[in-house]
Amino acid sequence: MSTNSAPHVLISGAGIAGLALALQLVRSGIRATVVERADAPRPGGQAVDLRGASRDVAERMGLMPGIDARRVHEIGMSYVDGRGRVFGRMSMSDFDGEGAVAEIEIARGDLAEVLLEALEEAAAAAPGLVEVRYGDRITALEQHADRVDVEFEHASPASFDLAVGADGVHSATRRLAFGPEEQVATPLGGYAAFFTLPTPADLEPGWFALRFVPGIAFGLRPDRDPATSKAILTLRSEHDASLRGDRSAQEALIRRALEGAGWHAETILRAMPEASDFYFDELVRIDLDEPVRGRVVLLGDAASCGSPLTGMGTATALIGAYLLGEHLAAGHDDVPAALARYARDIAPFVEAGKKIPGGGIDRMVPANRFAAVMARAATGVMLSKPFLPLVRRMFAAGGPDLALPTVRPSTRRAHAEV
Ligand SMILES: Cc1cc2nc3c(=O)[nH]c(=O)nc-3n(C[C@H](O)[C@H](O)[C@H](O)COP(=O)(O)OP(=O)(O)OC[C@H]3O[C@@H](n4cnc5c(N)ncnc54)[C@H](O)[C@@H]3O)c2cc1C
Repeated sequence: MSTNSAPHVLISGAGIAGLALALQLVRSGIRATVVERADAPRPGGQAVDLRGASRDVAERMGLMPGIDARRVHEIGMSYVDGRGRVFGRMSMSDFDGEGAVAEIEIARGDLAEVLLEALEEAAAAAPGLVEVRYGDRITALEQHADRVDVEFEHASPASFDLAVGADGVHSATRRLAFGPEEQVATPLGGYAAFFTLPTPADLEPGWFALRFVPGIAFGLRPDRDPATSKAILTLRSEHDASLRGDRSAQEALIRRALEGAGWHAETILRAMPEASDFYFDELVRIDLDEPVRGRVVLLGDAASCGSPLTGMGTATALIGAYLLGEHLAAGHDDVPAALARYARDIAPFVEAGKKIPGGGIDRMVPANRFAAVMARAATGVMLSKPFLPLVRRMFAAGGPDLALPTVRPSTRRAHAEV
């Protein structure tokens, strides 16, 4: 715990939410310790969208130069048949950057890199204010009125003024402070997998090509480096607890779903075992009434999640980290009050961020051959000019209309005071 009035904040998880919060805190002169379960920064993930309030946050946090240097330049999305012939297109310009492909797209791993670089720079300017510890995790939390006592797998126990669970959809902090995952998680009927592979020679540059067959939608999405692409797989499948952490079982499920699926199914299957950034998880929704319990607060996917189908997880995490950082900087002599203000301000973004544009897995992945034929016909019609305004409304996620609240500068402490 800190000896001066600035709190010492523990952050569990060095993903988008955890890194962004650490950056906000260190810039405000607040001490932060980040513990990340993985042994090193985790690469991977497909392009994530920044629009509306999340784009404002990126600008306010000074992240845009790093983002611009790593942007994925996507023209739009195309739907292909088993021989790779396009039968529907959704170009970014048709949707003013607010469709399935946003104006600012950056691979999740690249955004994490931008945040990490900014954090290193901020840490160098404020020595001793932030520590990022890889290969460690929280094992126990004990709340007191004025602090949280924490035990770790490796490091010695320590006390903090605040513990932040930014440890993702299966948050251990949430389990320790709020209760079991089953109480807040709703399986959405499927799984998602992402990994990087060499770009096939016949792929149309700049287009996110997608094919759906019964049980799976699979696509190849441009990467920052044209030599590589991201494989994006969305599977319909019942909840199966045994898949968690078992890569060979996960690959077997994908193999069965892609068997005979045509187009680049074989390319994806050949590359899958070699992928060093293979990511696989269940599509789940996380609903919590309140992200704060005493001196523990949840951030990003740990607090609320609508699954990667929303395309909003990273945006909501970034907005949350920014607002939490601002409120702690503005009122850090009263951490509970700062947390209450944060919970109030983030609530509308959390709700909007769980909306799945275009419908859920039932709409995205056909259940059988008949549904696949119907979906293909419907896609062709919906992406024709007369229907574009309707589709535009379907894809309008909740985020862009919500303005970023301003944390009153009058209540902010000057950096020098800290
Ligand atoms: C490798 C990876 C790839 C992803 N790819 C995509 C994608 O392509 N599309 C998409 O929509 N979403 C993807 N996601 C999810 C997406 O990153 C989040 O929805 C969003 O960015 C919110 O971020 P977050 O920081 O809350 O969670 P995450 O980005 O999931 O970060 C959580 C971090 O906490 C760490 N962690 C987990 N448990 C513990 C623990 N017990 N102790 C300490 N640390 C822990 C994790 O290793 C991770 O670094 C991916 C997540 C990861 C980790």
